[in-house]
Amino acid sequence: MHNGLIELRNICQQYKSRERVFTAVNNVNLKISEGEFVVIVGPSGCGKSTLLRIVAGLQKPTSGEVLYRGAVIEGVNPHATIVFQTFALFPWLTVQQNVEVALKARGVSAGSSATRAVELLDRVGLDGFETAYPRELSGGMRQKVGFARAMAVEPELLCLDEPFSALDVLSAENLRRDLLELWASGKIPTRSILMITHNIEEAVTMADRIIIMDKDPGRVVAEHPVSLPYPRYNKDASVIHHMDTIYSVLAGQTQPEEVEMGAEPGEAGHMRTLPSVSLNELTGLMEYMAEMPADTANLYELPKELNVEPDNLLRLSEAAEILGFATIAHGDISLSPLGETFVEASIILRKEIYAKRIQRLPLVHWVLQMLQNAESNEIKWDDLKEVLEAEFTPRVAEKQLDVLIDWGRYAELISYDDREEVFSLAI
Ligand code: ADP
Repeated sequence: MHNGLIELRNICQQYKSRERVFTAVNNVNLKISEGEFVVIVGPSGCGKSTLLRIVAGLQKPTSGEVLYRGAVIEGVNPHATIVFQTFALFPWLTVQQNVEVALKARGVSAGSSATRAVELLDRVGLDGFETAYPRELSGGMRQKVGFARAMAVEPELLCLDEPFSALDVLSAENLRRDLLELWASGKIPTRSILMITHNIEEAVTMADRIIIMDKDPGRVVAEHPVSLPYPRYNKDASVIHHMDTIYSVLAGQTQPEEVEMGAEPGEAGHMRTLPSVSLNELTGLMEYMAEMPADTANLYELPKELNVEPDNLLRLSEAAEILGFATIAHGDISLSPLGETFVEASIILRKEIYAKRIQRLPLVHWVLQMLQNAESNEIKWDDLKEVLEAEFTPRVAEKQLDVLIDWGRYAELISYDDREEVFSLAI
């Protein structure tokens, strides 16, 4: 039985700018129990950071209540600490002194704070770096000092605002693992963690529960429990399944998969062709839309503004729609929360989102399976074309292969050797 640690009741946050009152967070209710690792995902501007500040008591909401262990909290929550994307370390202090600052601020004596700081640094794996200066450390190590400093406060509730997003892939991976180990070991007094991220894989591999938010106004649209044992690997079928579900929610998918996606070759039903566009262009379209008010553009004006052929634009919008990046209604195309998440993502994350989304398309799924079953995971262009000609005219089959090459390469799912004219699985 879990005990409630923190509870948000009917939280609303409005911001006033000039004449306008803007609702950044609308009626959010959220309860986090002891022992829970909760992650919030959602597009920029949906109020994630605002909520985190409210939880930590750094900001008073316009209305609603924050309860901590059942009691209403006013002002800063002494039991919560926030770790930000880039931790501001004092450059003129050593690693150890940076941690001691936090301890002294809590009233720990100078003598004990030195011992404690060394312990904390040891725990995050920085043994031997006590006398180094922040500039001498890698980004990952600096963030570890940030974690050690946050731990020095011994927070019962640890709030993390995209703590890994500024790090290179390897450091992020290591630090995630370290944090999960620390969390699971019970060596830290932290009872609950609330983390914000844009990275769906990170959310699924770390969280007990994922809160999905959307904007205009910022609100919770869905919750998704993830009860998988740790360690979780991104290639595990169960992890992939959870990621797909989160992407579907972000994409605002309303139709069952088979209706929305069409049939695979050989199955009864309509087989959908892949729109013949390059993913580079599609990325360009989404970046453009993200600059527009309400992330919406008019389909009839777009060709002129983007300098693309109207036909090509139609194919691009179709691609955006089948990948769940946009919705089209009344001649307007609008980014979905997934599309917004994509635009905000790093190049590596964008490739992952593309990979996730295009694998759902029956044609891509089918070709991937054929490659998996093929000798050396390779199939000749000619052979694949022949198979596709059972479904499509020769011209369409060829076009589909072109699209597969472009999309497969971009998403790093399928490779194509131009000289040998062979498709293979990208590893
Ligand atoms: P997220 O973390 O999901 O990107 P934020 O909580 O930072 O969202 O912001 C939610 C919305 O509130 C955004 O539209 C942002 O511009 C606005 N906002 C955030 N802080 C302030 C502020 N201090 N004053 C005015 N508007 C703000």
